[in-house]
Amino acid sequence: MTIYARTTTDKADCPVCGTASRHRHGRYRRRLDDVALSGRRMVINLLVQRFRCPASACPQRTFIEQLDGLTERFARRTPRLRRLLERLTLVLAGRPAARLSAHLAVPVSANTLLRLLRRRLVQPRARAPRVLGVDDFATRKGHV
Ligand SMILES: [Zn+2]
Repeated sequence: MTIYARTTTDKADCPVCGTASRHRHGRYRRRLDDVALSGRRMVINLLVQRFRCPASACPQRTFIEQLDGLTERFARRTPRLRRLLERLTLVLAGRPAARLSAHLAVPVSANTLLRLLRRRLVQPRARAPRVLGVDDFATRKGHV
């Protein structure tokens, strides 16, 4: 199943400097695999917009808009599908996760699953906290 969609946003934030831009610079078609729908493989064919960064000092001249919860930079899968595949790989490991992914109509090779997981483990998921409270240093019983 394929869903064809296009964005209608009129501004986006530069991923490098964070400056908001309203300077559209063309469109770009993305093909995203998503979790299955009624046991069928799901593809989102999404027409996104390219913007020009207005900050003169920014090294990123143009960038593609990202849709929260639907797209990630350079990704060919939705965040929802990526998380599902990461969890399958964490619980089952490569080959069993690959076999189950085929049954779930999101077939992915064991090597790809391991690569996805490795990439996620290398990237920090959240910013490091700037301020810590006393409770953040509390230790669990039995652990020092
Ligand atoms: Zn920028």
